[in-house]
Amino acid sequence: MREKIIAGNWKCYKTMDEARTLITEIIAGLEPNLNRTVVLCPPYPYLHLAKELVIGSRVKIGAQNLWKEDWGAYTGEISAPMLASLKVDFVIIGHSERREYFKEDGALLNAKLKKALAWNLRPIFCLGEKLREREEGVTFQVVETQLKEGLEGLSSEDMLKVVIAYEPVWAIGTGRNATPEQAQEVQQFLREKIGEFWGNKVAEQIPILYGGSVKPENIDSLMAMPDLDGALVGGASLKSQDFLRIIHFK
Ligand code: PEP
Repeated sequence: MREKIIAGNWKCYKTMDEARTLITEIIAGLEPNLNRTVVLCPPYPYLHLAKELVIGSRVKIGAQNLWKEDWGAYTGEISAPMLASLKVDFVIIGHSERREYFKEDGALLNAKLKKALAWNLRPIFCLGEKLREREEGVTFQVVETQLKEGLEGLSSEDMLKVVIAYEPVWAIGTGRNATPEQAQEVQQFLREKIGEFWGNKVAEQIPILYGGSVKPENIDSLMAMPDLDGALVGGASLKSQDFLRIIHFK
């Protein structure tokens, strides 16, 4: 049985008081003994608070980004040793908003991934095609290139700590999710490629999440697919009732 993970990406939302309320409500609503990894990725300023609030619960905390160097004159950046010192568990790398608005490319993402692993932070590595690429029929080439560039040089042992999130860009924040079959097709392909590059053990164990307009209404049908091991959730992770329903998918 592969690990099942539901991760909430809060993006650039919530005040500190709202963050406290949301985390408290999510912890209170979790079914005991639920065999799932739950990850909350609030904005940086709330990571310390979040870590304190989840003490005694099974909820893990992730950052939304990190810088590729440990220390230095990089005004405004947050590094892996800083996150490690807060005992952050996960870090999102390669989100399409970082690729698009901050021009993060494969080489930079690869450096960030290696830095995360060096500091024992579990990367949630995002990839996915744009609408134009899907329409041009190059989805598989695009995601294979992103996979190779982002994960280049990682050993099989490293790969066992990585989580992949397939997030078609046209489905993020648009209300238009990929159908379960569309997501399954790409995620099966990704697992096959991972098997080719890093071996069958990694392919069988690595969690591949789906992200893109996941909601309480579509989570069950998405999670019924064999190669979908959880979800990376944006908008619907900002409301405790919606996120709790997603966490407790059937
Ligand atoms: C995301 O931010 O990773 C995401 C999938 O957003 P949304 O769920 O809002 O589409």
